Amino acid sequence: MKAIRRFTVRTVLPEALSGLEELSSNLRWSWHEPTKQLFASISPDGWEASGHDPIGLLGAVEPERLDELAADDDFVARTDALRDELHTYLSEPRWYQTLADAPASIAYFSPEYGIAAALPQYSGGLGILAGDHLKSASDLGVPIIAVGLFYRSGYFRQAISREGWQQETYPVLDPDGLPLSVLRHPDGRAAMITLALPDGRALAARIWRVKVGRVTLLLLDTDVPENDDELRSVTDRLYGGGGEHRLLQELLLGIGGVRAIGVFTELTGTAEPLVFHTNEGHAGFLGLERISDLIGDGLSFTEALQVVRAGTVFTTHTPVPAGIDRFESTLIERYFSTELLPGVDVADVLALGAEDYDGGVTGTFNMAVMGLRLGQRANGVSKLHGHVSRGMFGALWPGFDEDDVPITSVTNGVHAPSWTDPILTDLATAKFGAGNAFDADWTSEHVSDGELWQARNAMRQQLVTDARRRVGDAWSEQNPGVGDPSWYSSLLDPNILTIGFARRVPTYKRLTLMLHDEERLRSLLLHPERPIQIVIAGKSHPADDEGKRLIQRLVEFASEIDVRERIVFLPNYDIAMAKLLYPGTDVWLNNPLRPLEACGTSGMKAALNGSLNLSILDGWWAEYYDEENGWAIPSADSAGDGAERDKLEADSMYDLIEHQIAPRFYDRGDDGVPHRWVQSIRHTLSTLTPALSADRMVREYVERLYIPAATAEETISAGTYQPARELSLWKSKVEAEWPAVHVTHVESGGVDAVPQVGDTLHVRAQVELGGLTADDVTVEVVYGRAREGDRLADTHQESLELTGAANGVSTFAGTVPLGRAGSFGYNVRVVPRHPLLASAAEMGLIAVAV
Ligand SMILES: *Cc1c(COP(=O)(O)O)cnc(C)c1O
Repeated sequence: MKAIRRFTVRTVLPEALSGLEELSSNLRWSWHEPTKQLFASISPDGWEASGHDPIGLLGAVEPERLDELAADDDFVARTDALRDELHTYLSEPRWYQTLADAPASIAYFSPEYGIAAALPQYSGGLGILAGDHLKSASDLGVPIIAVGLFYRSGYFRQAISREGWQQETYPVLDPDGLPLSVLRHPDGRAAMITLALPDGRALAARIWRVKVGRVTLLLLDTDVPENDDELRSVTDRLYGGGGEHRLLQELLLGIGGVRAIGVFTELTGTAEPLVFHTNEGHAGFLGLERISDLIGDGLSFTEALQVVRAGTVFTTHTPVPAGIDRFESTLIERYFSTELLPGVDVADVLALGAEDYDGGVTGTFNMAVMGLRLGQRANGVSKLHGHVSRGMFGALWPGFDEDDVPITSVTNGVHAPSWTDPILTDLATAKFGAGNAFDADWTSEHVSDGELWQARNAMRQQLVTDARRRVGDAWSEQNPGVGDPSWYSSLLDPNILTIGFARRVPTYKRLTLMLHDEERLRSLLLHPERPIQIVIAGKSHPADDEGKRLIQRLVEFASEIDVRERIVFLPNYDIAMAKLLYPGTDVWLNNPLRPLEACGTSGMKAALNGSLNLSILDGWWAEYYDEENGWAIPSADSAGDGAERDKLEADSMYDLIEHQIAPRFYDRGDDGVPHRWVQSIRHTLSTLTPALSADRMVREYVERLYIPAATAEETISAGTYQPARELSLWKSKVEAEWPAVHVTHVESGGVDAVPQVGDTLHVRAQVELGGLTADDVTVEVVYGRAREGDRLADTHQESLELTGAANGVSTFAGTVPLGRAGSFGYNVRVVPRHPLLASAAEMGLIAVAV
């Protein structure tokens, strides 16, 4: 029989164990090993059965066991000590508290969060990154209030049918069984937010509060009685449906998110955020809600826009136009021709997302474009991706060189305490002391090759055990009552070179590149002296049959009798699997089509555990590969076509494995230890662990983006927003006059016929400014190496000073040092200048000499 209603009855803990309640309700436990061990010790089997979920564990444990623990002085003392430790962690000053000018609160928006397996509200990289961002922010004391949606079914659970076809199920989550609490008014009523919809309807949502260490995460949930069935299902699934369903989710996240933060700050007396950071474009509507608020305070749309831009940071994550969220403009028009945003005119909304630039599509509303227009600061997620993004969005700043496009980059990082296996942390603690586990000098003699290798062996063994268990469980699920095939007990070998490969399955990640030459792969797997084994996992988007076919091909190959013990596809890639998979692999493989991997973080998580990377030079690897920390698969960019490229890159991969990787792995000393390999592990751990840490990433966001954004928002809002009003007026004047701005003449002198290094070039330019004055503009000489087609590369700027004006023509002059030999070229450009602009390109206006 099916239950018509379900809920979870929470355990009543004995008074002596009250600390467990607190420890289980703050997700800090998920990256605090001693707390996890405390829970595990309540019932080791129950801990495993719950999938490492304290609330699930406490709900399942027998009351007698709890009474026993309540009478156990040691256990009670441990619990109290850990609770005290949590209190200290939550209140003591940390890195952020040492900074000057740091804002009292920062809002962070993301459509998904991967924090712990026990709270499955993520589909992949974007969500895990957001989770790691919050955890590091907590560790560093960064006062983030995060917002997301509470999905009743999260992302799907993956099973693989006997035919190798992906099957999706959507287990329903019960919020009462999760580490969530409802945000309430003092009188006990649940706090709600509502959004006005077309036809007089309204969407209501309640607000779940999640404690992620010091950070608060608010999750909006539309499954409430105030909504009809259709609206209740707005937050049913992560990335469910398309079009309108998705729009509703994004309206809720952006607009509802700002409202939820307002309710939260008011109810708790927390400072209101000054900076709003949106993790990808899905939350972009947040800027419109803030504009509507400011219009309520008496600002015009454009004045409010200046304020919002100053405080908004937009992070883009996709290197392909197809990855961007776009809606039909008519749909947007329908949703914004309502009471949704008081004071905001629908035409202004449409203009923000319009693709009204070279190559754009009319009638389309583009969320990334709106994100860039609503945020004065924007970034990609690796250096290469920053470059790709500047190219991809360059049309929004016509006339500017790619390098001038105001999109910077902050390379992603991963949260070391979450992703470092306890085996390695324990070794580090034993050898380097407790405080140094994540920045230990692994190249030192404090730890021997043998000890390090032993830890690596233990992590590989752990993966083999887990893989066998998973494959066995999957079999029982597909074949109830039928015993496992006997060969499952010899699936994978804890002593063989293990290659890991796990990812979502969009085409660009090339899940099946390794099958390009099946015979070659087979010979690597079955090599008599130097065999390899491969562990693969990944989910295909439910609507992507192409991706499912790739999985099917792999599963079919992996079930061939001769290789089936050496290559395995593990169903249902998630955080729990990932935690054992990365540490258990010797080599982490990644073979995307460059440059389509914006950053990639799984290889980082592997590196943190001493696994070496074998990857195309894309995303983070293009930035960090140094010849000693792994291997680079040369990317065959210039190959004739896709098939040719796949072949060349696959062949390089096989060659590297056969001639470099396997020989080094199996090159053992008399003690059985591969000393040369361990040397690479030491190097990887000591150099990459600090560089790839999410602490490094969050510090960069704070110093390079959050603090400047907070300062900008404070400056522009001074008094009663007078600077914003002035900036808005000034911008419209500059925009109106710009067609009359021209560089009419440029001359140079001061060098001989044969210029030499050390000479100084004198440049003089005549400029028409229309109705603008010299104070409104920067006139500068842009110089660098002259390349093909007179294109300038490696450019620098030197501003020119006003030296005179007559008959509507102003003269500007200055000098350029000729600092290096070789081809040299220069030009003169005019760009708007105002102290509240963050970059020369910001307004997309430029005049150059022709
Ligand atoms: C890290 C991680 C990802 C993202 O990996 P990428 O290399 O960035 O694609 C996806 N799923 C899980 C479970 C992860 O832990």
